[in-house]
Amino acid sequence: MSRCRWVYDKDVPGGKFLVPGCWNRTIYGDYAECQCREGPETIGDQLAALRKDVADLQRAIREGRNG
Ligand SMILES: [Zn+2]
Repeated sequence: MSRCRWVYDKDVPGGKFLVPGCWNRTIYGDYAECQCREGPETIGDQLAALRKDVADLQRAIREGRNG
């Protein structure tokens, strides 16, 4: 089952966006049923996921050094 997720990016209005995103969750919120279709991810999806992974890693490294 595919499910869109929030990707946080300070460069976009609101600081986050749904990937791949569906109107049901966009309009009705996180508890609405995800209507994203299953299928191969686009390169944009993969890029967004990778950017999130990088941000998570950078945060973990930073916290590791400070802690
Ligand atoms: Zn969705």
